[in-house]
Amino acid sequence: MTTTMSIPMSSPDLTDAEIAAVTQVLHTPILSIGPQIKAFEQALAARVGVAQAVGVNSGTSGLHLCVIAAGVSDGDLVLTPSFSFIASANCILYERGVPVFVDVEPTTGNIDPNLVAEAAADLARGGASARRWLPPALREHAQSKGRLKALLPVHAFGQPADMDPILAVARDHGLAVIEDACEAIGSTYKGRAAGAIGDAAVFAFYPNKQMTTGEGGMIVTNRADWADLFRSLRNQGRDVFDAWLNHTRLGYNYRLDELSAALGLVQVQRLDALLAKRAQVARWYNERLADLELLERPFIAPHTTAMSWFVYVVRIKAPASRDQVMRQLAEAGVPSRPYFTPIHLQPFYQSRFGYRRGDLPVTEHLGDVSLALPFSGVMSEEQVDYVCAQLRRCL
Ligand SMILES: *Cc1c(COP(=O)(O)O)cnc(C)c1O
Repeated sequence: MTTTMSIPMSSPDLTDAEIAAVTQVLHTPILSIGPQIKAFEQALAARVGVAQAVGVNSGTSGLHLCVIAAGVSDGDLVLTPSFSFIASANCILYERGVPVFVDVEPTTGNIDPNLVAEAAADLARGGASARRWLPPALREHAQSKGRLKALLPVHAFGQPADMDPILAVARDHGLAVIEDACEAIGSTYKGRAAGAIGDAAVFAFYPNKQMTTGEGGMIVTNRADWADLFRSLRNQGRDVFDAWLNHTRLGYNYRLDELSAALGLVQVQRLDALLAKRAQVARWYNERLADLELLERPFIAPHTTAMSWFVYVVRIKAPASRDQVMRQLAEAGVPSRPYFTPIHLQPFYQSRFGYRRGDLPVTEHLGDVSLALPFSGVMSEEQVDYVCAQLRRCL
């Protein structure tokens, strides 16, 4: 009766096609800046329906380059959620900008567009109403008018943020929109592809994402000027038309190698199948967890016209405790994670910006009750059965 199963938190979905593609690159002398990255970029741009795709060595690198393109520098403000993975705020700090955290919708966990509108209006107005949006440690010394430069919504767990009202705020205030689509490849918002909505967007390909390149990421944009800038910045600041040793600006080595690109090309060709398998696993979870009163299943908004499942995150309701459920699951061999842990409460953000519990109530509540269950496209129905049986025991 006490059979235990070993279930990983996540697994990549790889076939012989990926192994063959990577091996083929190893039979050539071109391991970077070759045909694979070009083919991968073209395939991904076509898939998302954008003019330009620029491969980089991580999602974080891609977000950093978008923040540069948006013109963010010393003290500039960017509106973004704290209910996210830390990279979506760190990328603003890399350019000495200030992430201004806006609370999220209790339903989706995505940035609340009404609060985005309110914050943008207040920051434009200046004075005390502007100051209350700033990180606590900056409120005293900040100029009364923040230089708001960009909006950086995150499509949390694969579900697109409510982009139409966010675009309206951007238009009204002349702001750039960067989509953190690192968790959302294949999602659509009112029929539009996540990643094709803002000025630029970033996808990420770490092994737990819907598709992987090992490490890697891709910036997509319809703006030719931004794409040229990204290609320069990822390659040590060489201008696209420059001679090899002519460095026009401060750049980075954010290049994606040919092995990773070859892997990504096969994965993007398989993307529909990869997403369908993940959707099936999410359905299995949804069916089995429907009647648990102390558990809330993921909420999918009406504007999400296609959901790309990155993680399967449930909420544990009082009087049950998320942390206790997590411990009991671990004892039964089932890994699970608190997801997300709010960025503003991370030690570094607390000490640098003076954030405290109570600053972003909805984000903090979601951070307290959210639990990511084991999830991947290679999970079997038996594994989902086992996880759900253990959850049922805990609750
Ligand atoms: C994965 C992820 C990133 C960054 O991806 P890396 O490739 O690990 O750098 C950024 N934002 C979000 C929301 C993510 O989930």
